[in-house]
Amino acid sequence: MSGRTRARACPERTCVGCRQRAAKTELLRVVAIEGECAPDPRGTLPGRGAYVHPAQVCLDLAVRRRAFTRALRAPGALDTKALRLYVEQTTVAEQVTVAEQATP
Ligand SMILES: [Zn+2]
Repeated sequence: MSGRTRARACPERTCVGCRQRAAKTELLRVVAIEGECAPDPRGTLPGRGAYVHPAQVCLDLAVRRRAFTRALRAPGALDTKALRLYVEQTTVAEQVTVAEQATP
């Protein structure tokens, strides 16, 4: 197995919460808009982006470390309410899907 095993077509990013590298597609892009952290699931918003797993744990870690403020070069603390809500909804939606699949 020499360096040719897998094409490195999928770009990796570091989660600002748990600091683990993951495929860009597994992470949620976050941008700062008017002092708020805004989720950018499509990756289309302009400006600097930070990447985090769409999970409460990673979000909490990132908030505690002020990782968003640093990663997005924000002048002050960023509001993460919208982001938190987005992650909550995404997580709930996933759980619902799993529950539906489990039902015979
Ligand atoms: Zn993470």
